[in-house]
Amino acid sequence: MSVDAPTMLLLSNAIAFVAATFLLIEWRSLRERFLLSFALGFLSIVVGCTLAPLRQSGEFFVGVWLSNSMVPLAHFMFLHGAASFAQRKLSLAWFFAPLICSALMAIPGLGDRDQVMSLFNAGFVAVFCLRAAGVLVEERRNTGSETRTLVATLLFHGSFYAIKAGCAFVPGAFVNLSSYKGTMISISLFEGILVEVALAMSVAGALRRRREERATRLAESDPLTGLLNRRGFEKRTRIVQPLGGSLLLIDIDNFKTINDCFGHQDGDRLLVDLAKFLSLRLPASAVCARLGGDEFVVLVPGMDAVRGLHLAEDLCTGFAARQGPDQCGTLSIGCAAVPQGTHDLAPAMLEADRGLYEAKNNGRNNACLAPRSMTSAQSPAARLYPFAAAG
Ligand code: GH3
Ligand code: MG
Repeated sequence: MSVDAPTMLLLSNAIAFVAATFLLIEWRSLRERFLLSFALGFLSIVVGCTLAPLRQSGEFFVGVWLSNSMVPLAHFMFLHGAASFAQRKLSLAWFFAPLICSALMAIPGLGDRDQVMSLFNAGFVAVFCLRAAGVLVEERRNTGSETRTLVATLLFHGSFYAIKAGCAFVPGAFVNLSSYKGTMISISLFEGILVEVALAMSVAGALRRRREERATRLAESDPLTGLLNRRGFEKRTRIVQPLGGSLLLIDIDNFKTINDCFGHQDGDRLLVDLAKFLSLRLPASAVCARLGGDEFVVLVPGMDAVRGLHLAEDLCTGFAARQGPDQCGTLSIGCAAVPQGTHDLAPAMLEADRGLYEAKNNGRNNACLAPRSMTSAQSPAARLYPFAAAG
């Protein structure tokens, strides 16, 4: 069986057109930039494949040079798409690379025109693909299974084009660009079709992953403060709770009165202020969430009960001492120890709730370590009694 070059070009064109249309439709609803970049990449292939048959009627500049220039341009767009997906910025030099490639392909007298053109064309494509794979690998959080397929496709394609560039001057391997003759051209057209399909499917997989991430983020976060919600907290702490640590249950004092006196909107603003305050003051390892209403929870993995109490005291003092016209509100905090090997936070939550109850009973604006957590507190400096935060 043999498939001629024009048929393979037609197939390639059709696949690229379907992929571009699909990605453009998805981009219109999702507005993810990587979709637009990949769609424009496939559209460049459509333009290249549409112009390519002109070479058979002797049109060199449009049929060969312009048509071939679309190939590195398409792969630059794929690199741009990969960088957008990984939320990385490409340096300015990359944006000039497709133009430089086209210019190099047009320089006369650099040797055999077809070989020179094939060398630059394949060389630039290889660099774009391998860099795109590198960008995705570097971004660890983007190495889910779907992205792995994308990386594998880009690596395969990049390596193929690196070999193709290396073969540009091998006698007989190439290449008559004007009449589409040469072993490498046939192999390359066939490989191109495979890669187009794999690339379109991998991008669709990456798109699905991005959608799932968005839905999960929405389901696990509190829309007002941007912190995790209860569900997010439970999920996030499942991994770290066996390490043990300190649990802090934080509640705004007299929040109902603040709502009544200043209005619900100012109440909301205080909740957002507290979320920002916590994000700034807590250690990077802490997992923080809004459980609902004016109640927040923090788990600091690896922090013993005494240090947990000190942290809670600092939070009370710091929050009460905030400066500014609207900075009202104080905090009460209940602390509990989370023993190592814990697989259920519920008992520690109950303990922290007891500590919070104590803190409220002791006049608010203070932190209190739950009585049972005292037994796991290693330092004799740990206080059984609530700490009065601000004077
Ligand atoms: P305490 O010092 O004992 O904690 O007294 P409190 O008034 O703060 O009592 P509580 O913690 O039970 O009050 C919670 C209040 O939070 C009740 C509810 O009106 C208010 N609330 C719940 N969710 C929201 C919200 O999203 N925004 C605002 N502004 N208020 C909320
Ligand atoms: Mg309250």
